[in-house]
Amino acid sequence: MTIFSKIINKEIPADIVYEDELCLAFRDISPVAPTHILVIPKKPIRSMAEVEREDKELVGHLMYTAARIAKDVGVSEAGYRLVANTNDEGGQSVPHLHIHILGGRSMTWPPG
Ligand code: 5GP
Repeated sequence: MTIFSKIINKEIPADIVYEDELCLAFRDISPVAPTHILVIPKKPIRSMAEVEREDKELVGHLMYTAARIAKDVGVSEAGYRLVANTNDEGGQSVPHLHIHILGGRSMTWPPG
């Protein structure tokens, strides 16, 4: 049980910007960009490394939803970044798959 499961179950509050039967999106508690939203599946998948063939549609739904939210919050035209930190070297700190939507400023490359 991660903190994100508790957010899904509404056991702890979050600034939710979108919800449907498959996923939830909410604002990151420690934003690293003016727009910083997390899109998570309700299914408790630990990371992209755990994604199975049966999850292909769900992962597509997460990416599609992230793009729609980026449009809705007004960062789409200027540009934004989608990130799925994966396992230790990927910098993942919460073991529940999540897509970061980062926008509202210019991003740099390579990432740290
Ligand atoms: P990761 O480092 O795993 O890629 O990203 C986890 C993200 O979850 C971090 O950006 C962190 O700020 C965010 N986060 C951790 N705990 C909470 C929480 O309780 N509420 C919200 N809204 N975000 C959280």
